[in-house]
Amino acid sequence: MINRTPANGSGSPRGLLAADPVSDFDAGPPRISFEFFPPKTPEMEDRLWAAIKRLEPLRPRFVSVTYGAGGSTRERTHATVRRIRHETALEPAAHLTCIAATRAEIDAVARDYWDAGIRHIVALRGDPPNGPIGGSGTVGGYAPHPGGYPYAADLVAGLKRVADFEISVAAYPETHPAARSPGHDLDNLKAKLDAGASRAITQFFFDVEVFLRFRDRAARSRIDVPLVPGILPVTNFAQLRRMAAACGASIPAWMGAHFEGLDDDPDTRRLVAASLAAEQCRRLQANGVPEFHFYTLNRADLLVAICHLLGVRAPKPAAAA
Ligand code: FAD
Repeated sequence: MINRTPANGSGSPRGLLAADPVSDFDAGPPRISFEFFPPKTPEMEDRLWAAIKRLEPLRPRFVSVTYGAGGSTRERTHATVRRIRHETALEPAAHLTCIAATRAEIDAVARDYWDAGIRHIVALRGDPPNGPIGGSGTVGGYAPHPGGYPYAADLVAGLKRVADFEISVAAYPETHPAARSPGHDLDNLKAKLDAGASRAITQFFFDVEVFLRFRDRAARSRIDVPLVPGILPVTNFAQLRRMAAACGASIPAWMGAHFEGLDDDPDTRRLVAASLAAEQCRRLQANGVPEFHFYTLNRADLLVAICHLLGVRAPKPAAAA
């Protein structure tokens, strides 16, 4: 016989996941935001917009649109951000980088965004097209544009001179690959916040302890803005290996074990991906993390499942009178 009495004896219908002792939903559902990339083709555009429409009812705090490596998606990023502003109730945030542009050009882009009602910028240094780590495994080839903003902290200060934007910046729980040391990397984060950023979104990571240790070190450096974990649901382990190698993120051995034998089984990989990402968020929540930024890769279904498991739901339509 199945015992239907919840382990906590409260009589409340807590689900299997919520019965896990590391989980605590009492704080309510987390705040969420979603990241998209600008589409290259009409088919990709259709897929992106299907995803945006499906995720919109979850009422994310904001949705951000990336800026391609080397500044390669400039027009597409602008077009996508503007379309989100005009066609949805979502709050768009535009990623902007220092790459391949003068200060005057970047300031003009920022002014255009402000005039179009875009109030939130994710301000980044950006990478050269081959990424922050060169082919040899060494830190590869970033050189500031002559006349440009050299680093993200300079960009944040410049944007604040253009208008009073809300500004988010990047943070690295495992330290940015080009940083001289973890301490220097935290000093750099502090410089970005001192320049006017009010939130840091992290590079993706999988080991919850890595984030918690980073949060502790940040607190010791008197960093007191929200550090929002960047969550990457993984469906393609081979692709993850490439992405992680490019940005210096580590992949715990247990991740590999979870995806073992699933190369030809995309359906199961997706179920595993949703379950692992939800579990990662729940462990972070249980450690007092109230907010997550999801790297959606422009797909909605996994995110709907993960958010559902976290208690993030679309509001029910009002009953007809
Ligand atoms: P910075 O904060 O400028 O730091 C970069 C490196 O330079 C660090 O190692 C820092 O310690 C060092 N540094 C800083 N200041 C100085 C200085 N004065 N002298 C010497 N060294 C210094 N990339 C894109 O191209 N487009 C995107 O849309 C995009 N979105 C992202 C979103 C998130 C949430 C994250 C985490 C990353 C994103 N990236 C994106 C990647 C990002 O551009 C790279 O990680 C890049 O290598 C660093 O960007 P940053 O803004 O962290 O740089």
